Amino acid sequence: MLSCKEATRLASEALDRPLPLRSRLGLRMHLLMCSGCRAVSRQLGALQQLLRLRLANGQDSHAAPSVSDPLARDRVREAVHKALDQKDGSASGSGSGGGGGGTDGL
Ligand SMILES: [Zn+2]
Repeated sequence: MLSCKEATRLASEALDRPLPLRSRLGLRMHLLMCSGCRAVSRQLGALQQLLRLRLANGQDSHAAPSVSDPLARDRVREAVHKALDQKDGSASGSGSGGGGGGTDGL
């Protein structure tokens, strides 16, 4: 059984590329049993659609709408962390690599 951390990591990875069968099954199993991760994964899906729409509508008309866009990936990752924080409820100080970049202005 995957941990919640593993599961959410896989869920976000699945947005970037197809997961290996084993990971996919593990993730699905976890989502069946864990409503928290189910919510996170649903949010991720919605977020990805939103990003795609934004990219398709907006400034990057020459680029293919995709979450492989570094900025979009950054946002997804940020959202994942936020969702995880909310889910855990406790303010854990185990932030690994929360880079403070100046990526505002949209
Ligand atoms: Zn979980």
